[in-house]
Amino acid sequence: MKRVYIAANLMDAQMMVDVLGTQSIKAHIFNANASGGVGELAATQIWPEVWVEDNELAAHAARLLREIHSADSSENKPCPHCGELNPRNFLSCWNCGGILG
Ligand SMILES: [Zn+2]
Repeated sequence: MKRVYIAANLMDAQMMVDVLGTQSIKAHIFNANASGGVGELAATQIWPEVWVEDNELAAHAARLLREIHSADSSENKPCPHCGELNPRNFLSCWNCGGILG
């Protein structure tokens, strides 16, 4: 077992497991309950982790997830004027020229 990804939340982790599943890579989520906010666990901020069963596939899986994540819409921000997604470092919308909030 190898850890290939630390997710921002459980939904993110589950999405990555699903993606790996489509590649026939068996993966599991650890710390799935961490965001449940149970007592002191919540204060220490434990993120859900994605682990793959087969160590041989870990590097491949990690690369796959990195590619997916860099293309993820969470890396972008939507334009408040037209709704188009823009890279985070853009100050004005590439589509309509509006100032990004
Ligand atoms: Zn726009």
